[in-house]
Amino acid sequence: MSFSRKPRVEAGTTSAPADVFGYDAFFNHALDGLKGAGNYRHFARLERLPGQFPRALLHSDGAVREVTVWCSNDYLGMSQHPTVEAAMVEAGHTSGAGAGGTRNISGTHQVHAALEAELAALHRKDAALLFTSGYIANQGALATLASRLPNCIVLSDAKNHASMIAGLRQSGAEKLIFRHNDVAHLAELLAALPRERPKLIAVESVYSMDGTIADLRSIAALAKEYGALTYVDEVHAVGLYGVRGGGIIDALGLHDQIDIVQATLAKAFGVMGGYVAASAATIDFLRSFSAEFIFTTSLSPVLVAAALSSVRHVATATDLRIRHQTQVAKLKKALAAARIPVLATDTHIVPVIIGDAKRCKAVCDGLRDNHNIYVQPINFPTVPRGTERLRLTPSPLHTDAQIAALVTALTTELARHGVPQA
Ligand SMILES: *Cc1c(COP(=O)(O)O)cnc(C)c1O
Repeated sequence: MSFSRKPRVEAGTTSAPADVFGYDAFFNHALDGLKGAGNYRHFARLERLPGQFPRALLHSDGAVREVTVWCSNDYLGMSQHPTVEAAMVEAGHTSGAGAGGTRNISGTHQVHAALEAELAALHRKDAALLFTSGYIANQGALATLASRLPNCIVLSDAKNHASMIAGLRQSGAEKLIFRHNDVAHLAELLAALPRERPKLIAVESVYSMDGTIADLRSIAALAKEYGALTYVDEVHAVGLYGVRGGGIIDALGLHDQIDIVQATLAKAFGVMGGYVAASAATIDFLRSFSAEFIFTTSLSPVLVAAALSSVRHVATATDLRIRHQTQVAKLKKALAAARIPVLATDTHIVPVIIGDAKRCKAVCDGLRDNHNIYVQPINFPTVPRGTERLRLTPSPLHTDAQIAALVTALTTELARHGVPQA
């Protein structure tokens, strides 16, 4: 990287010359690179309207407008559910705002244990362990498993989430990447490995950007054949699939064939936090060895109480799951009828492929400025260059009228910016 360093010496100082390297010049040069490529991240400043999801206020350049949000991971609108809100407020009154320490030192409360028991039951595992986020759960669990299993080799799907990659890198374990959802490739890699060597297969059940679903049945069979441990990120599936919202593993009845389930409390459950569920030995091992679990203050009891209330509510909210899938199907059908280029998926994730970072942002700006619709452009490195997209996530709370308005607006903006029809 080349940039012009601007050594700067503070006037009037004789000792310690400041910024000899030109740190800010370096940072700005890197940011200019992002801006030039159209990959600079602009955060939209939202003000949520309790009880009105997916409507929200969008603040920009001193102006405020009411928009419909079409890109939230609050998949079921649970973040504003009255029962969840009430549980959160109640916990604030009874427990206070913070946990007061790490889990080891006064940060384990009754409510943490209750949520872990609920999550273990949801996934039909012996035990579960809370982390401060889904990201940290992946990083901590994968780093700990892959580094401590002796001579462990990891088999990782090419599209695994950044948090899984972070944990696996941190572990220092050898890693083989198999082509996305290519079970034959995974089988080939497994067959070439020594039988006795510990193996860890790491995948997601629902891939967040493409909406693809892993062939967990085949992966579980391969794992059994070759003696591998299986680790599945169900972040985009919990709450949404399975009779009680236990995810794709639950929907397929694979509870006893997948070893470790990881998920978040922040998406369909609408709160915050992450967890893993597995055998008693696995969970006790992670509890005892994962630095990401041990050396951080535990989740606020306010968050844990809200999450517990949400998980319990969602478990029996079959109507919500049905309504979610109904609205997803309606949106997909309307987009297809309007010949909008959508990546076909079997899930609730609806990617509209634009294929160019600047155009992707221009379409999103147009949706916001001309139609009061908020969708965030998804660019590199979240998705490969040339596949830049809008990632639409309908919820049970998006109305038929909002779907119709979105499709009309998209048709106009895609035409304005020269995006070819499907
Ligand atoms: C969002 C996400 C995570 C991280 O979960 P958080 O609770 O938001 O930290 C992990 N895995 C996948 C696939 C995700 O999309």
